[in-house]
Amino acid sequence: MYQCDGCGAAIPRKALRYQASIEVRAAYDTLEVSLWDLLRDHRRELEELVSQLDKAGATELEEQVYKKITLDLCPQCQRRFVQSPLRFGECLPADSPPADIDAFLRSLGFGQRNE
Ligand SMILES: [Zn+2]
Repeated sequence: MYQCDGCGAAIPRKALRYQASIEVRAAYDTLEVSLWDLLRDHRRELEELVSQLDKAGATELEEQVYKKITLDLCPQCQRRFVQSPLRFGECLPADSPPADIDAFLRSLGFGQRNE
């Protein structure tokens, strides 16, 4: 049994569910290192950085660099998520009923056929 991370509904083990993986990572454009950067004394900057790292928690630091979130979604929440990933948590007005992807995938041999 799974639980939908969108609406909290129970998703039976053999039922169609969706997984959304979200990776949030720190990104930079290519750094340009000048001769001045190489000659400069970095000691004070490094000491400041180390003292900042001491204050912040390890988890917080890790999340500032990389965070992966995996969501289990029921078919209705998958539709909401795909339509508006950044506003997924908000209640969106219901639209047309979803196509029966479950039946389609099962007709192709995925999942378990109803007996
Ligand atoms: Zn849901």
